[in-house]
Amino acid sequence: MLRAYLVSRWGEDPWARGSWSLIGRGGTPEDRRTLGSPVGERLRIAGEATHPARAGMTHGAYEQGLEAAEWAAGRGHRRVAVIGAGMAGLGAARRLGELGVHAEIWEARDRLGGRAAGAGMDGATFDLGANWLQQYEHNALARIAESAGLRTVATDFTDPVVLTGPPPSAAAGERVRRRLEAAPVEASMAGALGPLLDEEDVRRFVDAEIVMDSGAPLTWLSARYGFEPGVGEGDRWIVGSYRLLVDHLAAGLTAHLSHPVPHLAVAEDGVRFLDQRADAAIVTVPVGVLAAGGLTVGPPLPVPHREALSRLGMGRVEKVVLRFSTRFWPPAASGYYRVHGPGPGSICEWLDATAADGVPTMVGLFAGPWLAELWDGPDAEVARRAAALLSPR
Ligand SMILES: Cc1cc2nc3c(=O)[nH]c(=O)nc-3n(C[C@H](O)[C@H](O)[C@H](O)COP(=O)(O)OP(=O)(O)OC[C@H]3O[C@@H](n4cnc5c(N)ncnc54)[C@H](O)[C@@H]3O)c2cc1C
Repeated sequence: MLRAYLVSRWGEDPWARGSWSLIGRGGTPEDRRTLGSPVGERLRIAGEATHPARAGMTHGAYEQGLEAAEWAAGRGHRRVAVIGAGMAGLGAARRLGELGVHAEIWEARDRLGGRAAGAGMDGATFDLGANWLQQYEHNALARIAESAGLRTVATDFTDPVVLTGPPPSAAAGERVRRRLEAAPVEASMAGALGPLLDEEDVRRFVDAEIVMDSGAPLTWLSARYGFEPGVGEGDRWIVGSYRLLVDHLAAGLTAHLSHPVPHLAVAEDGVRFLDQRADAAIVTVPVGVLAAGGLTVGPPLPVPHREALSRLGMGRVEKVVLRFSTRFWPPAASGYYRVHGPGPGSICEWLDATAADGVPTMVGLFAGPWLAELWDGPDAEVARRAAALLSPR
């Protein structure tokens, strides 16, 4: 019996506009670098989308925050406004403080952490956004989590239990990889794969590895660069959620919550926003928010930045956390499960998070066209539909 649940709504969240950034057809990782390059002397865009190699992940965001802070301090700025209190914003504000620069964070939400969003229910806290410390061995946040004494649990993604049919073959994966590597930069995933997508084995591979990892339509996603490195061996999730890490990182920082910044005016002598002034600004809002005009900049961003932004976008991956009275799903050494949806491109994967506190708990990640239907209605309905997918068939 379902005893408690949490449901995410990243797709309709005005301060996220999706789950993480992706490269669309025609784009390259260079677009990430361009977007993150300084805009004159007083503005820099940071955030996960600007990392050319670790985009879409918390530690990539954090590293970009550090780099932007070092840039601002290096220009001699004494008062810096950091817009957004996600991992990039927290990293920037911390580093600025270490460098002796006065930093204040301006955050639209009434909480810190952005897409690293631990939420409480049923006596425990679970992640509705980022779940894992990815690329664990080379992850700056993993080192901070370790030094803070946080308990983490490893996930083996290589051997999920597929509850609906056979896993895709290694050969299917190889064929897809070869086809994508050879695709022209302008090609979309759908264009490059073409009729291959009609083969069941290939389709299962694509849904599990590309759709689940992006949450974006294959007709939009870049064939060559839409499948970026990230999820893998050694990833670990934090017992008690990213909230613990966020609180640790935010200690001693000045953050103004519930202060959305609609517009940033950049002049020769500084930046202005709300009724504030600073020497420079580091903007860490998601690219979905920038593209939707959730924060505008005047004068407008330079053409290369705008063009880079136009080739990046956000996918939609939603999560549920379900707590049950009893455990009914089959045991799996990996603690990881996959369920293919009713049509092509619909997929969900599940992390058994019972280790958190012993209460049978499953965390589900959903992507694909079925989200429109599954997520239509109140949270209780979404949770009930999600739980039904786990039931023995
Ligand atoms: C469902 C899901 C699962 C994920 N899983 C993982 C994972 O397992 N591992 C991993 O490493 N990453 C994962 N990610 C990605 C990770 O969460 C992000 O890459 C990272 O948290 C982004 O940090 P950021 O600081 O760049 O942006 P954000 O965290 O989005 O921070 C930006 C902040 O800006 C604020 N803001 C927006 N607009 C304004 C405005 N106008 N004025 C003021 N403030 C504003 C937002 O409220 C937000 O707090 C996941 C994300 C999602 C949604």
